[in-house]
Amino acid sequence: MTILAHRDYRTGELYDAEVVVIGTGAGGAVVGAELAEAGRDVLFLEEGGYHPTSSFNPYLAESLPRLYRDAGGTIIMGRPPIPYAEGRCVGGSTVVNGGMTWRPPEEVLAEWASITGQPDLGPKAMEPLFDRVEERIHAKPQHPSSVGEDSRLLEEGARRLGWRYERNHRAQDRCVGSNQCVTGCPTGAKQSTLLSYMPRALSTGARCLTEVRAHRLWIEGGRCVGVIGKAINPRTREEDIDVRVRAKAVVVSCGAVQTPFLLLGHRLGRPSRQVGKNFLCHPNAKVLATYPYDLYAWQGVNQGGQIREFRDEGILLAENAVPPGTVGAQVPFLGEEALDLMKRYNSMAMTGVLVEDSHAGRVTRSFGAPMAKYTITRYDHDRFLRGIRHLATLHFEMGADKVILPFSNFHVANSVDDLAQIERSQRSRSTIELFTVHMMGTCRMGSTPRQSVVNLNGELWDLPGCYVADASLFPTAVGVNPQVTIMALATLVAQRLRLHN
Ligand SMILES: Cc1cc2nc3c(=O)[nH]c(=O)nc-3n(C[C@H](O)[C@H](O)[C@H](O)COP(=O)(O)OP(=O)(O)OC[C@H]3O[C@@H](n4cnc5c(N)ncnc54)[C@H](O)[C@@H]3O)c2cc1C
Repeated sequence: MTILAHRDYRTGELYDAEVVVIGTGAGGAVVGAELAEAGRDVLFLEEGGYHPTSSFNPYLAESLPRLYRDAGGTIIMGRPPIPYAEGRCVGGSTVVNGGMTWRPPEEVLAEWASITGQPDLGPKAMEPLFDRVEERIHAKPQHPSSVGEDSRLLEEGARRLGWRYERNHRAQDRCVGSNQCVTGCPTGAKQSTLLSYMPRALSTGARCLTEVRAHRLWIEGGRCVGVIGKAINPRTREEDIDVRVRAKAVVVSCGAVQTPFLLLGHRLGRPSRQVGKNFLCHPNAKVLATYPYDLYAWQGVNQGGQIREFRDEGILLAENAVPPGTVGAQVPFLGEEALDLMKRYNSMAMTGVLVEDSHAGRVTRSFGAPMAKYTITRYDHDRFLRGIRHLATLHFEMGADKVILPFSNFHVANSVDDLAQIERSQRSRSTIELFTVHMMGTCRMGSTPRQSVVNLNGELWDLPGCYVADASLFPTAVGVNPQVTIMALATLVAQRLRLHN
């Protein structure tokens, strides 16, 4: 198994491969493993380090800088500004994600087929791809014994209010619900690409250069022939050694922010004006409730199911238990008041509202760094207010003593009557507090260069030999957790790239 790190690189070294894949997350690991298993000589280039299961621990001060870009605190600029998190390690965001594996609703795939004019993206044609992915990541219903009290409470609340609740399918094999998904699964149950697709690729001879950031595509005679990057010293984060890889095909799988950022560093032709546009992000708002008894939400899987009653309006409601440090960073209080609330961590139910994007933002390059811009529309804002009110109502129905709301000017509701103030106090879009972990759409797939960045093989219209396989490919938002859709599209790109070359 060849996994190299900073200490292994020498200046001026040149690596050769048939296919170089930049990134090892949901898109990169899948496209690379599929190609390696088909007999291609694959080399991965990954900015983050290789951190095996035995190294994972729940201490945020250690885990966040090690596994996440910017320790999980990058910001999308707009109204309101939206913090986002993405993984930066072998396995990418799949190492730190919640493991949920929802297929997109059929109507989303039907829309993709219709927008692109390609039946291959429709629900029927995509089905074998989803089947293949789900088998490889062990996607299955979460076992009830690993579901915690907070999930049961949400399910019961939905039942009382007559709302549809669906139990999660997750990428896991014998998950015991230790609820440390966001700092890397300590038991190895969660089937991130670190444990599913990467071992498949590496055991068939693929190599992985870790701690190398790709800075430029290597272009010769109008064709992409490799990648130029720099090795990063993991202690100082200084970039010091040049690393070059020459290959017949380059697959960019850096995620929906870093992929357009890399491509925008080159003068590509007219069609590439689409690069970075169509930035979608499923913004989320947190609703935290405290109960007069202990729920121990940290015992049991981070999310047992989702309330799907409002899916037609593009609103999903779910619980999402996170570590105390993450809650502490978001509570709207200081000093004693913050401490008093945090002392009640055991009696908290952490829940959230996800709203499907109704419009898109954009990723650009600014002073050598990616800049994502996105502002929620009035329509999205209204849906957030409705979703937050629904969740708060459920909590009071279930006996919560207070609900902490995600508004900078209205923090606490003590009873269901207080919720009437939401509409009155939330006229501005600037006072809502959002975050996200689902970035998508910035190099969308399509059938014409005017509307898309890559063709239906995943290859850039403008740059032969350069492919994209990650969340950037989505023509529209999926409205559900995106990882299996990314993996299915990456499988498709691998199948087509194999036929293509
Ligand atoms: C906390 C969290 C919880 C989530 N929960 C869920 C969930 O439950 N279910 C679900 O479906 N989705 C979930 N997601 C989202 C899902 O994990 C992502 O949508 C998915 O992993 C994105 O895949 P990707 O291949 O586009 O990017 P990533 O998986 O982020 O992989 C990109 C990789 O590229 C590397 N990279 C970036 N730039 C460079 C460069 N220049 N050079 C070299 N390497 C580079 C990165 O280090 C990273 O490893 C969650 C995400 C997070 C962060």
